[in-house]
Parts: sequence; structure tokens; C-alpha cells
Amino acid sequence: MKPETWLVQAGRPKAPGSPLNTPIVPASNFLLGAYAREDGTPTWAALEEVVGGLEGGQALAFASGMAAAAAVFSLLPPNARVVLPTDCYQGVVGLAEGGPWRLLRLPLGDTEAWVEAAKEADLLWLEPISNPLLEVPDLRAIAGAPRKGLLAVDNTFPTPLNLRPLDLGADLVVHSATKLLGGHSDLLLGVAVAREETLLERLRRARTLQGATPGALEAFLALRGLRTLAVRLERMQKTAQLLAERLQAHPQVERVLYPGLPTHPGHDRARELLRGFGAVVSFVVKGGAEGADGVLGRVRLIRHATSLGGVESTMERRSALPGQGHLPPGLLRLSVGLEDPEDLWGDLKGALEGA
Ligand SMILES: *Cc1c(COP(=O)(O)O)cnc(C)c1O
Repeated sequence: MKPETWLVQAGRPKAPGSPLNTPIVPASNFLLGAYAREDGTPTWAALEEVVGGLEGGQALAFASGMAAAAAVFSLLPPNARVVLPTDCYQGVVGLAEGGPWRLLRLPLGDTEAWVEAAKEADLLWLEPISNPLLEVPDLRAIAGAPRKGLLAVDNTFPTPLNLRPLDLGADLVVHSATKLLGGHSDLLLGVAVAREETLLERLRRARTLQGATPGALEAFLALRGLRTLAVRLERMQKTAQLLAERLQAHPQVERVLYPGLPTHPGHDRARELLRGFGAVVSFVVKGGAEGADGVLGRVRLIRHATSLGGVESTMERRSALPGQGHLPPGLLRLSVGLEDPEDLWGDLKGALEGA
């Protein structure tokens, strides 16, 4: 079964007379012993079946992407060596900085440094398309290098339709299903995926003991969102490529960071690694923070909001957030939604030209 078919077909009840869709099961406990926090629920299980199958492993649903990340970090002993990208989702950086671990930050493009670090590290944490600079590592080389510890990949930006890190040799995949998997900006949910049974059981135990379990409604909505992931992503990527190309040609734009552009420093790595380049386009406008805020104030269709991966296009200036000092001040991160591409371009063009 192709992934596009799997995400429509999997995770459904099979008994005659059942509804086509796995229902929302609001339960803490079940007859004859099962307890939801430990044993899960049918709604979580359906979601886990779909995501696990897409990634080629077994999935566990968590309360949020950060809950899934926190479960992974909780597997580490004190003093563990952790390697994070210099450009990385800020929540994960905060989590790593707050723990009793020895942190090393490496640029995603520096393959040699990652390969070297793998020999000593207890955890390598990678983003295949980094947030928000959209840098792309040579994941194949890093995952194939000898390593001491775990390799975890935050696959939120590519989604399993564009990349399956476990196939390349990663130990763990983490998702913020809040983003593209759910796809409608109406839930918080995370997923961790592993292939190896003991690792999976350690993660399950972490979820059970930390209590970082998803809600029944959230799991249902994420599963419902997943059914349309393939068509959403395809459309979003097509529009993202078009907008990236037009932005690049616009005089008010200094630089566009989209892995689908041949001018992107990670373009060759991205072409080799990914089936598609994702729904997020970052670009630097002239005039620094003020210029970027001006554009944000003038867009009418594109929502000035954080987060990404929803059906509605959103945009924000990431350097306005704490801990983002490495970003160009004029950088805007655009999450491309499902609106008409020409409407979106008209909105961006008008905002860039002060209309
Ligand atoms: C949003 C995000 C997270 C955190 O996920 P939540 O669901 O908000 O907890 C982790 N990694 C990446 C790349 C993200 O974009």
C-alpha cells in the first residue's frame, strides 16, 4: 500500500456494524483492568497505527510535540552528551538547556562535525528542515555513521510523506502533530515513533509515568486531519515553491530560504533526501525588523500568527521571540496554506509594496 492509501485506509474499525471512523472514546478505564494512561485507548491506537505505519515503526501519541520530545530526553542519564542543531525549534532548545546534560550545538550543514560528534554523543537531535532557517542536513551520512547513542529526528516539517528517517537508520522520530499532520490549527498533539521494541517500551513507560497523554478529541481530530495530509501537502508545496520563486524576484526581498530553490545552500541535500520541500518559506525583507513588521501589518489574507502547517496561511517574525538572536531581524516565516496561490501572491506583493 502506498502511504497516500495507507493514511486513508488504516486505523479504522473492522467489525461488521462498526462506524467507518474510529470514534472518540472518552475513557480512563476499561472493564477487566486496562487503564488509559498506561494502556491507551482505541482512539489513540487508531492514530498510532496510521502514523506508525507511515514512518515504518510503532508510534506513541503524546499530549503535544514537546511532550513527545520531553519523553525522549527523559531517557537520558545525567551528564549525557546531547547534540542539537544551531537552528532548532526553540522549545526543544529550552528543554535541552534546562536539563542536566552537556549540550553541543552544530550547524546542520556541517556533516563532518555531526559524524565526529556521533562517536561520543548519547543523543543526536536533528531537524531535516530546520525551524525557521530551513537548513537541511546530510541525514543519510549522519545516520549511517558509527554512533554511540540515539539518533532522534524531529520530522515535523517534512512529514513521513517526504521523509522516513527510520529507513535511513534513525532510532527515533518525533512529530508535532499540532502542525501538518493535524493540519487545521485546532489541536495540540505529539507522536514519537521507534522501531526497536525496548526503546518503544522505554518511551511508553515515560509517557505512562510523566502522564503526557493525548486527549480523546485531539487524537480523533488529528486522525481526521491525517486523512487529507497527502493532498494538503502536495498543494501547499506547489504554492510554496511558486511563492518562493516570486519572492526571490521581488526587489523588497533580500533573500528567500526555501529548500526547493536552487540558490538554497542545502538544495542538493534536500533533493537527495526529501520527496518534497515542505510548506514553510522563510524570507528576509529589506528594512530589518521594522520592514518585516510593516509587511506583517499589511497582509490581509495571511494571518499574523505563530505555528504552521494549518490549512490557513500564517506568518510571523521569528526574531521577535526570545532566544532567536541568530536570526536575521527581517526574517519572516510563512506557513503556506490552501488558499488560491494567486490570492496569496497578491496579498504578499501588496504588503511588500506598502499597499
Ligand atoms: C511546534 C514544533 C514542536 C513542538 O510541538 P508542540 O506540539 O507545539 O508541542 C517541535 N518541533 C517542531 C519542529 C515544531 O515546529
